[in-house]
Amino acid sequence: MEQHARTVARVVTPQSVMEGAGVRLRRSFPTQALDYPDPFLLFDHFGSENPADYLAGFPMHPHRGIETVTYMLAGVVAHRDSIGNAGTIAGGDVQWMTAGRGILHEEMPQARDGMMAGFQLWVNLPARDKMIHPRYQEIASTTIPEVTRSDGVCIRVIAGAVEGVRGPVTEIVADPTYLDISLPANLTYSHPSPRGHAVLAYVFEGEGLFGVGSEGKGTTVSAPKMIVFNDGDTVEVRSGPQPVRFLLMSGRPSNEPIVRYGPFVMNTWEEIEQTLRDLRQGTFAQRD
Ligand code: FE
Repeated sequence: MEQHARTVARVVTPQSVMEGAGVRLRRSFPTQALDYPDPFLLFDHFGSENPADYLAGFPMHPHRGIETVTYMLAGVVAHRDSIGNAGTIAGGDVQWMTAGRGILHEEMPQARDGMMAGFQLWVNLPARDKMIHPRYQEIASTTIPEVTRSDGVCIRVIAGAVEGVRGPVTEIVADPTYLDISLPANLTYSHPSPRGHAVLAYVFEGEGLFGVGSEGKGTTVSAPKMIVFNDGDTVEVRSGPQPVRFLLMSGRPSNEPIVRYGPFVMNTWEEIEQTLRDLRQGTFAQRD
């Protein structure tokens, strides 16, 4: 069968929002421009040289029905949760948290060398997995493989595979790919992506030509922007005179109705009401 290169469906400019106890974020979705590219529910880019933008952090709060993926570029996030994890994630580290039926946690950003930056992605759990036991994977930067091609293209493989090199995040329901790709000037990168999966690219440094299709056309996109791709078998990106760095994310859609209520994402309002009852009754994040 002929290979079809994915073209660009949407380019979204992140919106400035306040979250937690007063953290300023750049949100790509959900926004008025983009609701949610199933199975992905939320994407935030945080980072500032001004501690007032983030020091209030995200005090203890619950999650149910989703997974949250935090990837740090600089600074640290101190965290602790109701299943007994506590520590800090620092530049280059990843925290992949499966909230399942319920987790309570705290996320408090701090600068290192005056810098704090990173990303948080929320991935939906399908109905059959919404109430699984919470699970937590912390991946130190040193254990994330980095594929450097002979032409200088450098890819950190967090989830999924590049040229046979597998990322350390495994057993995630949506079968996700999560790559941090640095493309020096005047190069091309092509990545296979399963047909039917949602594919996103978040451009956070430089500029590139995305979604180069069979006719050789593409869309020039400059940081910071979120790109949503149409369906196809591969994603192709070209850099021009300047380098470009972006996250490439893909996952299998859950194709189910969702009901969102703050940090909870379920399939029905009844399940949201049950979640609020569990919180009131203190049975939300019970350990057994
Ligand atoms: Fe959280």
